Amino acid sequence: MLKKQFLLVEPVSKTPYPPLGLMKISSMLKKKYKNCQVFEQAGDEVPFGLSEPDEIFITSLFTWDIDKVIKSALSFRSRFPSSKIHIGGIAASLLPDYVESNTGIKPHVGLLDEAENMSPDYSLTFGRKLKTSITFISRGCKRKCKFCQVTKLEPTYFLRKNWVNDINENYPLITFWDNNWFASPNFKNECNELVKLNKKIDFNQGLDARLFTKEKAEILSQIDIDPIRFAFDDISYEKKIINAITLAQTFFSKSKEIRVYVLYNFNDTPEDFFYRIKLLNNLEVLSFPMEYRDPEAIKQKLPGKHWNKALLRGLKMSLLFYYRKGMITKSKESFNKIYGKSFNEFKNKLYKIYEYDRCLKKK
Ligand code: SF4
Repeated sequence: MLKKQFLLVEPVSKTPYPPLGLMKISSMLKKKYKNCQVFEQAGDEVPFGLSEPDEIFITSLFTWDIDKVIKSALSFRSRFPSSKIHIGGIAASLLPDYVESNTGIKPHVGLLDEAENMSPDYSLTFGRKLKTSITFISRGCKRKCKFCQVTKLEPTYFLRKNWVNDINENYPLITFWDNNWFASPNFKNECNELVKLNKKIDFNQGLDARLFTKEKAEILSQIDIDPIRFAFDDISYEKKIINAITLAQTFFSKSKEIRVYVLYNFNDTPEDFFYRIKLLNNLEVLSFPMEYRDPEAIKQKLPGKHWNKALLRGLKMSLLFYYRKGMITKSKESFNKIYGKSFNEFKNKLYKIYEYDRCLKKK
């Protein structure tokens, strides 16, 4: 009897992490169909050894890349007309009608329950050199921030009981992708588990500064968590972020890096953005500006109601020219040199960078 064949496709690979959903689907398929063959593919090539897949699973991530996902689905359909094709992942979940009208395939929206409790199949890396386990302790979020898509993707907040099974002993690091771990009612027990695992930990999506308390800081300081990531998405929680940073600086070793995601181009003004990054610079932590983009199937970036194209481009270029990995470092001297001491200076500097970049492009 012919072995069942499955093909897992990541049409666009732009992040350092492999597609976790497909890794879980692989485990699900291997459990369900003993001796099946699971093929992985980053891009649109047909992997060596694949003859006729029974089913093809295509993932998606950024909405602005959705047309590539559609192209991939159409291309695999023409090569394997009798294979059943599934499309899922973040972008397809946010734009299901767009995907369906362009492919005739109704995408799966949100988490795939059957795969959710599976451990990732780490034998698949989709071309990455992976040194970390990837998991979630919790899914969803109890908050409903207007700019955030989590409520659409994972509408219910719940704890995953068997997340420890996702840990690969061979990797020194565990990366958590929780949206809001601090909201977990089981926080203490989970920390005890993390202490036992004795690995380096990264809560990659950021920790909720509004829920960070002295008690949590004390418990968390027993874990090798580095960097410590918070988010400062809205000026309204200035006091909370100052408190969270002060606690982290008090309870954690000085060698640990504190990074703060700073959302911009949503309802904020450039002035408020400057205020937030300056405040973080004064607190001697790193800022990681994150540009808001509407979840649309377009490549073009649209300025938020208080921003314009020149300021957005100038900011992006300043991060590329002067800083590594898009992060504003702690040095006050370079901050003042690059962005200035006041909002007016900041704005003028961004316009200058924008003009300079435009001239370069014309040459
Ligand atoms: S707290 Fe974070 S994950 Fe939760 S809704 Fe707000 S931005 Fe999204």
